[in-house]
Amino acid sequence: GNNISLETGTDRKEEQEDVDFSELRKVARQRYLTDREKKQMILLESELKDYERDIEKIGWDNLSGKERKEYSLKKQVMTIFNRRRKIEEEELTGHGEGFQIQNDYITSEGRIDTKRKRQALYGRREGGIGYEVKEMTAEKQITGFTHLKDESHKIPEKKYEYVFDKSQKVEFSMDGDDEEIEDAEKFRLEAKIAQEEARVKSIEQTRKSLPVYKYRNQLIDAVKKYPVLIVVGETGSGKTTQLPQYLYEAGFAKGLRIGCTQPRRVAATAVAVRVADEVGTKLGDRVGYSVRFDDKTTDKTVIKYMTDGMLLREFMSDPDLSGYSVMMVDEAHERTLHTDILLGLLKEISTQRADFRLLISSATMDAEKFSAYFNDAPIFNIPGRRFPVAIHYTMQPEANYLHAATTTVFQIHLSQGPGDILVFLTGQDEIETMATNLRNTAEKLAGQMPLELIVCPIYANLPPEKQKLIFAPTPKKSRKVVLATNIAETSLTINGIAYVVDSGFVKEDIYSPATGMQALTVVPCSHASADQRAGRAGRTGPGKCFRLYTKWAFSHEMPASSTPEILRANLSGVVLQMMSLGISDLIHFDFLDAPAPEALIKALEQLYALGALNEKGELTRVGRMMADLPCDPMLAKCLITGGDLKCCKEVISVVAMLEESGALFYKGAEEAANSVEKFRSRSKAKLGGDHLTLLEIWQEFVEAGFSVQWCRDNYLQYRSLNRARNVRNQLEKLCRRLGLEEGEEESGKIEDEDDKDRKRIRVMKSITSGFFSNAAKLSRSGESYQTLKKHQSVWIHPSSALFKMKPPVRLVIYNELVLTSKEFMRNCMPITEKWLKEYAPHYYGRSR
Ligand code: ADP
Ligand code: MG
Repeated sequence: GNNISLETGTDRKEEQEDVDFSELRKVARQRYLTDREKKQMILLESELKDYERDIEKIGWDNLSGKERKEYSLKKQVMTIFNRRRKIEEEELTGHGEGFQIQNDYITSEGRIDTKRKRQALYGRREGGIGYEVKEMTAEKQITGFTHLKDESHKIPEKKYEYVFDKSQKVEFSMDGDDEEIEDAEKFRLEAKIAQEEARVKSIEQTRKSLPVYKYRNQLIDAVKKYPVLIVVGETGSGKTTQLPQYLYEAGFAKGLRIGCTQPRRVAATAVAVRVADEVGTKLGDRVGYSVRFDDKTTDKTVIKYMTDGMLLREFMSDPDLSGYSVMMVDEAHERTLHTDILLGLLKEISTQRADFRLLISSATMDAEKFSAYFNDAPIFNIPGRRFPVAIHYTMQPEANYLHAATTTVFQIHLSQGPGDILVFLTGQDEIETMATNLRNTAEKLAGQMPLELIVCPIYANLPPEKQKLIFAPTPKKSRKVVLATNIAETSLTINGIAYVVDSGFVKEDIYSPATGMQALTVVPCSHASADQRAGRAGRTGPGKCFRLYTKWAFSHEMPASSTPEILRANLSGVVLQMMSLGISDLIHFDFLDAPAPEALIKALEQLYALGALNEKGELTRVGRMMADLPCDPMLAKCLITGGDLKCCKEVISVVAMLEESGALFYKGAEEAANSVEKFRSRSKAKLGGDHLTLLEIWQEFVEAGFSVQWCRDNYLQYRSLNRARNVRNQLEKLCRRLGLEEGEEESGKIEDEDDKDRKRIRVMKSITSGFFSNAAKLSRSGESYQTLKKHQSVWIHPSSALFKMKPPVRLVIYNELVLTSKEFMRNCMPITEKWLKEYAPHYYGRSR
């Protein structure tokens, strides 16, 4: 009895007499280990071993209170030392220890924290891709601690668990300035404080905390003074969300609007939602957005975000932009085709309208170039801070970056401290595939992950409420993984990203004037892009970037900067728009970078072939109608011919459905494949190919009363069809305005099969009239196809109704070309030579 009271009563005193833990703890909290500490560590280690031997011999319960306490405390100090040694190793070598979770965790009561202990134990892989099922026994779990009475660590005798497979680990080498990274710990603390503060702050305070806020008045003064101002600042400094608000608050609207363009739809909508929130109005009230087929503005709207393409369209109805007092061309460094044309048009306006203010904003690159272009307009630089980001390259080239990215995400998730992950991929397909992979794997690893993994994809077709998730603060005990395209390079700022995984690729629409072929192609991204991507990890604290390519590839295979779209894109769309704005002298238009004359000539040729221009190169009636339709000239031509052939309604449906064709059916399910086949047979896909299959789906959706249940029953994505419905409604309105639907029979009349077949043929002819330049005929081998114009080899995409059709279709036109392992034609339709002669006499007539 005596013993017990003595123990509890004197614990604290004894502790102070024996070891000076407070001092030890203090040192332990410092950054790296000093030599003295390393010696202390060795000593501690042997002391702990002695303890453990004793525990083994006499049992935990028979130790004195003092001994227990001392053991626990020493153990804790050892843990801290170990952690620091790990940080040091990791940061100086760049090789994190894979996902080793500290395995000597013990609570202050001297108990093993079994949850962590379990996480720490894993086995080696025997087979499988990435993960394996490993048999674990209770014995293994508690090695060295079998003496403990604590039962909470016990695990059923045989338990199967998924373990992360170390041999699949992607190995990285480290790059960068050690000195910068030395400061990481200091920054980490600062960042933590900053984050915590930000969380507590109200919107008003958050606004005030943005780097741009300090320069609010200076910026307003500069805009007053200079008609054109170039604004440069790090991503996240507040350019997009704040500048239009500042100007509005400072009275620049003057009864007109303040506009801000974005290269991408997602950015325009997301930012408008955010700013409406900040201003405290409903979206569409004072703050709104306008993107193709989706206009959320009203008469009340003062701050308007829009895509650059939409502003270009607005020029047609308002060539002086008289509705705007200020225009901000945001993300100008992206140099999209539309932005480049806008710069030329806006430059003109700023010389004509003294009251007009133009802001060009860019994420640091190319500012001098913009300034020179706008007659040496001043550059306003918003100083921003970027925390150091450690760059890791793979040791070997990764054959499959999607797979490597998935593995890397788990490597980070299981081995690295808190912080969200941002993965850069090239498109919606990849993002969806990887999201599924991540979710499946996370489910299997569920018991072993210290944090829950929240997967947040972002792409234009994702419903807004899901897009919003990427901005939501990450809940406690979880980690967010955002999967994005280069939209997250500079357009969208996501707070809390500490790790970036960079595939090193980007998808570009590349057009070759020589062959007249345009294909979506995955190409290596530029150094500038890669650096922007890495920078996303260092916005709120020091971060790490894992590049899924070697350092060699970075310096030898990736271009320093990307080519502006105007130098690589098909120009027929913008040429048509410029001509309809009355700009006929394209060669002398004031381009920031003038496109090659051949590219302009090619565009004019294509417009001529489509009947948009006459022999003198003037816009025809058809051309003017085409310019009024918010789609590619080829699609616009289909609609117009559809009007002539009295099947405009059907062609509108096909055009609206083509946009959604990639995401119509649920992926993977066998039933979905059967469903596709069903629609194919009903639409007589053998004769009408993919276009008429899309039409069939649409028409049955209409007959089913746009029913969600019908979509489900047919494995169709309701959301995609609903979007098509929305696009279709708007296109129909425009077509009606152009008088294209006149004289079409009202839907009341019942058509018999023959009527339907005749109409099918007319729809196909309409499509041929727009897409004749995408014609290809079966090659002698009977497998590949050759384009009619330039004899390039192309293949039918496996997703097509015409894929492996027997006998193969002789002549097809395709909607688009996708370059992956081969040049695939996606969405194909059989045609006849007669139609080509009828609808493209200029194009194919002479050469045959
Ligand atoms: P910049 O245009 O200079 O890159 P932004 O104005 O886009 O900067 O962003 C400023 C701040 O606003 C960032 O901290 C960003 O995280 C935040 N922000 C922007 N959009 C949203 C959104 N939709 N939801 C939440 N926060 C946002
Ligand atoms: Mg921005």
